[in-house]
Amino acid sequence: MAFEPVLLRNVGKPGVRQVAGYREAGGYKGLEKALGMEPDAVIEEVKASGLRGRGGAGFPAGLKWSFIPKGNDKPKYLVCNADESEPGTFKDRILMEQDPQQLIEGCAICCWAVSANTCYIYIRGEYVEQAEILEEAIRDAYANGILGDDVMGSGFKLDMYVHRGAGAYICGEETGMLESLEGRRGQPRIKPPFPAVVGAFGCPTVINNVETLCNVPHILERGADWYKSIGTDERNTGPKLYCVSGHVEKPGTYEFPIGVTMNQLIDTCGGMWRGAKLKAFIPGGASAAILPAKHADLPLDFDQLAKAGSMLGSAAVIVMDENTDIVRAVHRLAKFFNHESCGQCTPCREGTNWSELVLKKILAGKGNPGDAELILRICRNMGGTTLCALADAAVGPLRSLVQNFPEEIAAWIDNGGAGAEPRRYFAEEVLV
Ligand code: SF4
Repeated sequence: MAFEPVLLRNVGKPGVRQVAGYREAGGYKGLEKALGMEPDAVIEEVKASGLRGRGGAGFPAGLKWSFIPKGNDKPKYLVCNADESEPGTFKDRILMEQDPQQLIEGCAICCWAVSANTCYIYIRGEYVEQAEILEEAIRDAYANGILGDDVMGSGFKLDMYVHRGAGAYICGEETGMLESLEGRRGQPRIKPPFPAVVGAFGCPTVINNVETLCNVPHILERGADWYKSIGTDERNTGPKLYCVSGHVEKPGTYEFPIGVTMNQLIDTCGGMWRGAKLKAFIPGGASAAILPAKHADLPLDFDQLAKAGSMLGSAAVIVMDENTDIVRAVHRLAKFFNHESCGQCTPCREGTNWSELVLKKILAGKGNPGDAELILRICRNMGGTTLCALADAAVGPLRSLVQNFPEEIAAWIDNGGAGAEPRRYFAEEVLV
């Protein structure tokens, strides 16, 4: 499936990490255009494009920007969420590593639109190299008048900082991130108030993901109508990065119009690994429900996946072949969420722990006939009852295990540990 890349167009081009090379490749035209517009007009253009957040929630970006109060004496902030820690997700890493000026440009346009004079890029601790690349790119942007007291000669002042996290998954949650940015333990806050009103340091704050902000220069430069012409419908617009991992021949980050299908992605990745058949896939990172292979022709966009009971999330597509043991895969995910729960809410703290223990018991050959219903009961107690979405995220794979793969869990329970055949777990197999 041929598609002229937009977000990845500069990958591999020499010199684009610096302002001069990026400009040579056509960069900073979007910012130049935005600075010649009223901030509200920039927000309207982004709204008209239909751009939805690429970090997981899919909230319309322009609408989010419009929530920042106007005429408020308080300073405003942009916090770019570069804490890419959803298992299976590695698209923001490519964007920061290969084309950091594109991100700086997107951040600068957003800051102009919401009248923010300070931007923090909150990057996960493990992204050491990417943090260094960004810092170098920011230094170069200051030296070339893209950042500082007079952005591109417009009189607009903008400072940008890279802030490194310490590796907690929960710091990818927007209010957990703000707590961490302010120097406290990264535990999510009670909402409301939302960050648009009370965000970083008690001030109005926009929080957008790296990929979301990287879309913005293109919307400004080429217009909302061009942007809307890409995608499945007016609610699912623009290019999208899909991170494909698991049982394919060529895993990696691929760019397509939003709404590519699983089968098209597998073809692009050189087919299934060793020619095996597709059994299941996770379309949107560890938080998304696992879908069986019958959904492989479904457009991978926000709405179609929601209708199928899953979500696009961060578009981390994890492919599982016919040899995958889904119970073991979900146990691994349950272990992850149990480890990453911050512990503030009882349903999350206890529920993530119990779900891991129940699955561990089943895998030890000690499962009971009522365990599938027990897992669903744990899910009911966790879903929608907590401060942040981590508990709902943990529910996604658990519920889909029971609802979409009842025969797999029954095989483990009924056969006293013999498990479903074949019973290989993909991660271990890939690593050997
Ligand atoms: Fe912490 Fe879980 Fe509550 Fe989120 S849902 S605040 S991770 S305990």
